[in-house]
Amino acid sequence: MLIDGAFAVASDNAWITSLNPATEAEIGRVPAGTKDDVNRAVDAAERAQSGWKQKSIWERGALLRKVAAGFRVRAQEILTMEATDTGNTIAKLRADVEIAAGYLEYFAGLGTEMKGDTVPASATGLHFTLREPYGVVARIVPFNHPFMFAGAHLAAPLMAGNTVVIKTPETSPLSGHLLGEVCQEILPAGVVNIVSGYGLPVGDALVRHAKIRRIGFTGSVATGLAIQRAAAETSVKHVTLELGGKNPLIVFPDADIHKAVDAAVAGMNFSWAGQSCGSTSRLLVHESLYARAIELTQAKVAALKLGDPLDPASDMGPVNSIGHYKRIMALIEAGKSEGAKLILGGGRPKGEMFKRGYWIEPTVFADVTPQMTIAREEVFGPVMTIAKWATVDEAISIANSTDYGLTTGIFTHDITQALTTAKRIESGVVTINGSGMHFVGLPFGGVKNSGFGGEESLDELLSYTQAKSVHIML
Ligand code: NAD
Repeated sequence: MLIDGAFAVASDNAWITSLNPATEAEIGRVPAGTKDDVNRAVDAAERAQSGWKQKSIWERGALLRKVAAGFRVRAQEILTMEATDTGNTIAKLRADVEIAAGYLEYFAGLGTEMKGDTVPASATGLHFTLREPYGVVARIVPFNHPFMFAGAHLAAPLMAGNTVVIKTPETSPLSGHLLGEVCQEILPAGVVNIVSGYGLPVGDALVRHAKIRRIGFTGSVATGLAIQRAAAETSVKHVTLELGGKNPLIVFPDADIHKAVDAAVAGMNFSWAGQSCGSTSRLLVHESLYARAIELTQAKVAALKLGDPLDPASDMGPVNSIGHYKRIMALIEAGKSEGAKLILGGGRPKGEMFKRGYWIEPTVFADVTPQMTIAREEVFGPVMTIAKWATVDEAISIANSTDYGLTTGIFTHDITQALTTAKRIESGVVTINGSGMHFVGLPFGGVKNSGFGGEESLDELLSYTQAKSVHIML
């Protein structure tokens, strides 16, 4: 862990061993932090905050750019570690370091946008607002892209003048150390602190800490709800949540079905075995194209090559952990027993290299109805479902039928259809004729149980500030 600019073990010297999900070999360990460790990290962040806040936006921006450069210098090492620890395949994973560095650079340039307003509220006075940091911010990170999320999520709070305590995930935690080395070299002590360990006690202690007034969480709905409850019990806090998704891709009768299926399969993120909040896990196809969609999806997914995550030729690796493997397998069984039609996969792949590790075949179900468990629950694994619809109202009703609302894809050439559907969809992000797109500068985030608080944009930066009104009576 990185606490107050120095590497630290847990106060009780306990550890978490990390396994390579492709082989189950032990590859490293991180401290299993304690409440005391969290307290030390928050105290260090608090001590560092006034000095950090007093730096100009230009100084803070320059340091963020240096951190970005530090990520790039160590990219190969970070990516090898990350692929080995997560099971994400290296070819696509290369983008993760670049994305984290890109967010640091984007926010580094946004300092002058932390503007207040001048309001003519009285005849004789001057009335304006200032944007100020919260103080110490907690950012809690999930297992699917631990380096990318931890690195990218430093940017907005730091640029706004906060100091940060990051909590890394308990599975795939190893890249947190590399992040710590880069931060230690470049930033003043205490500005970034990294704590590792389990949700209970580390995440929970961080959330409950009275000095933490701002929490940015990325993870599951269940944990998001627990964080809202825990945060509310100790002090008044601003909590934003980036949670799960059960993302539909709606194919209209006029769509190019090849392009739609390509987008659905690409959007499923098989490179990370479907473990992405934005995965297009529900393909909703008009009945006129349904049979063709099943055929094309089956062929495209069957062509994916499972293999060593470090091999650039691998399209998909294992899922992240034994716990997650069992959860996904149980959901696949639910799909089978509830009457969905298994088109592809549905089990452990055959072959010597798949005997150990958390391997699951890319799986496709058709004839999935909205009541089925696999149509409602986020699998967060390599499982796609296909369903058919007859009318636009039915398509929208199915799309909106889950508790989630993160991303939606719409395939049609009819601009009116596309835009009226985009308006009726309950989703934080809509992509027309594509899937799962992120563009720096536009808020990414969900509605309903997918969370709230758009990130990757100016909104994220401003959300790490609080407005103070100043009245001058002339
Ligand atoms: P998770 O909720 O199990 O864990 C996320 C983090 O929360 C971990 O660091 C964990 O240790 C910590 N945690 C667990 N219990 C806690 C508690 N009581 N208090 C505080 N912290 C606690 O999620 P996961 O399994 O690591 O990640 C998968 C989930 O993340 C999926 O639902 C996925 O959709 C979601 N996700 C969302 C986005 C997004 O941007 N919307 C991005 C990636 C992942």
